[in-house]
Amino acid sequence: MITVDSYNFAGKKAIMRVDFNVPLNAEQKITDDTRIRAALPSIKKILTEGGSVILMSHLGRPKDGPEEKFSLKHVVANLSNHLGVDVKFAKDCIGGETLELKKNLQSGEVLLLENLRFYKEETKGDEGFAAKLAEGADVYVNDAFGTAHRAHASTTIVAKFFPNDKIFGFLINNELQAMDKVLKSAEKPLTAIMGGAKVSDKILVIENLLDKVDNLIIGGGMTYTFIKAQGGEIGNSLCEEDKLDMALDLINKAKDKGVNLILPVDQVLADKFDNDSETKSASIMDGESGWMGLDIGEKSIKLLTDTIMNSRTILWNGPMGVFEMTSFQKGTVAIAKSLAEATLKGAFTLVGGGDSVAAVNKFNLADKVSYVSTGGGAMLEYIEGKSLPGITAIRG
Ligand code: AMP
Repeated sequence: MITVDSYNFAGKKAIMRVDFNVPLNAEQKITDDTRIRAALPSIKKILTEGGSVILMSHLGRPKDGPEEKFSLKHVVANLSNHLGVDVKFAKDCIGGETLELKKNLQSGEVLLLENLRFYKEETKGDEGFAAKLAEGADVYVNDAFGTAHRAHASTTIVAKFFPNDKIFGFLINNELQAMDKVLKSAEKPLTAIMGGAKVSDKILVIENLLDKVDNLIIGGGMTYTFIKAQGGEIGNSLCEEDKLDMALDLINKAKDKGVNLILPVDQVLADKFDNDSETKSASIMDGESGWMGLDIGEKSIKLLTDTIMNSRTILWNGPMGVFEMTSFQKGTVAIAKSLAEATLKGAFTLVGGGDSVAAVNKFNLADKVSYVSTGGGAMLEYIEGKSLPGITAIRG
């Protein structure tokens, strides 16, 4: 697979899809530039080799044409600072003026195009629009993993115009390598930990994982659909009533496939959804009316961390409880710490999906696991076994 690493950019103009969809405050100042920093290695590689870079991205969800608050001009200063280069800005992502700017771009220079989603053609995957994006560039680089599951003009269709010069940036390449290490070449035992609120979001992921994992840990709010399906009392805990049959089906499938399905055995009950609620511990099967389970209990922590410490490859998606509240973060902290410890002992640990990423960041453990995925939806679709249009467009 060709990546930015093995491509020679000397004298080439690269058009690169990045994910600069960063959070902005009311004054249009960036509050978290993680996504910009994630794209820097690929941009720097191209510039150092004597290439030039045309960057394209979306920002926010503009409804109908240009909107000042979604202009990518708000990221120019931050990007220029990081690169030590005065980044040029094109007020439109296509059109005559932009083409001129592209043509005049010199080696070592960077041009950022205005928000792609000011045109509906972007999300529609319009080929004519993609052709205009491609104009004036020699090579297409995709480094926006977070949008790789969308067949948009800039993420997928544009690749057609570079049949021999389409490549992945470092970020996408690292994401693919990390996921393939879990899905295709995992050192065993392989354990997946699925948490979070809703099982319905993760059914396909769980089904696909059942063919691969040795242990499947279920935690967080989704636990209670499995507990109720097995006749447990869940009181006021979260439950998806219409998914009870499906939960039983997953339990049976796990049995058939010889997968060790591990559910929490105890829990922390709260009398309301509040950090200052009254709490008590209970067995997982013994919820109570008027009480809700908001974290896993001590016995579960022991069971889960023992399993983690005996695994060589671990995938974690979704918190074990309402970790946003300090009273119910203990289970999630324990899992995060145990992943860090397993990593130290040589296990490969991949954390992905919005809230587990937020959790490892919150507890300052992001650099203690093997890889933290940046692409929530894209990662889940890849783990479901789907082919992602943005990946297929380059890899075939
Ligand atoms: P998801 O987006 O499906 O991964 O869910 C993440 C959310 O699930 C977080 O905001 C957690 O607070 C929430 N969550 C985790 N465990 C529970 C629980 N036992 N009850 C209610 N919400 C939970």
